[in-house]
Amino acid sequence: MGRGRFAPSPTGDLHLGNARTALLAWARARREGQRFVMRVEDIDGPRTVPHAVEGNLAELRWLGLEWDEGPDVGGESAPYRQSERVDRYQAALEALAAAGSVFSCYLSRRDLREVASAPHGPTGPVYGAAERAENERVRREREAASAAFCLRFAPPVGAAAGALELDDVLHGRVTFDAERDVGAIVVRRADGLWAYALAVVVDDAAMGVSEVVRGDDLLAASGAQLALQRALGLPTPRYVHVPLLLDAAGERMAKRRGGNTLRALRAAGVDPARLRGALLASAGLLDEPRPLGVDETVALADPARLDRAARPWDAALASFVAPD
Ligand code: GLU
Repeated sequence: MGRGRFAPSPTGDLHLGNARTALLAWARARREGQRFVMRVEDIDGPRTVPHAVEGNLAELRWLGLEWDEGPDVGGESAPYRQSERVDRYQAALEALAAAGSVFSCYLSRRDLREVASAPHGPTGPVYGAAERAENERVRREREAASAAFCLRFAPPVGAAAGALELDDVLHGRVTFDAERDVGAIVVRRADGLWAYALAVVVDDAAMGVSEVVRGDDLLAASGAQLALQRALGLPTPRYVHVPLLLDAAGERMAKRRGGNTLRALRAAGVDPARLRGALLASAGLLDEPRPLGVDETVALADPARLDRAARPWDAALASFVAPD
């Protein structure tokens, strides 16, 4: 049986954009007869907000989601918190290192800006030959000074690379070039934390995730994930990269800006059925918002039908959910 998932990072309260993506992922899994997995991506310890782990889950339940596997319900792929899965990331790193494709990198962010050779990939400068050469130039001196280093994985390039391709329900076939788009990617950071790209591919595979619904801000980062899946012999799920919800000013909602949080709406007494209807209307899945029951939400929240030029969270939607 296939599996879908939602994977919140508990770095703060979920905003309406996170809620809409979660709703789409859950409804898709339910409609396609997949199991639905909730995975808490609390891998970035310093940025994890303690109350957010329980808070995020409680608010998603309030919105109407339920999951078959997750930190609070267990399941055959437990544990479901990344902070408890680091031995898997270590094993994956060892497998990559055994294949000779991991190296220590002593270059700081500033060094990288200075070296920054063409080309630039979709996620910024790509770590290529010039960076490798600069790293070798400074290596001995920085090793001697016990400078901090991160670990990078260098995917095979050229003929050895194979195609880095994924199938996306909304974007079609997306192809990445290992050299131009990916380069050598961080798998363990200089501060000792595991990189998101490594953790996400290890966990999606270990949890049997066959389809990933997530925000389209992560599409560009998928090239690195594909390269890691190839190197580790892991399957590539099908993806559905969904548009992000914009606020009334036309900006992407962001946790760091605060506002529009599920926590605040719940505390204000918002009716989750009205919120579901408004979120679907914002995605172009309903012409006008109306209160939606859970079953109706599952039937209507089809990410494959998403309107790419959806409407922002405007004053009319905000007032539709505002309690009397
Ligand atoms: N934890 C990531 C986030 O909250 C999502 C990762 C993913 O869906 O692959 O942005």
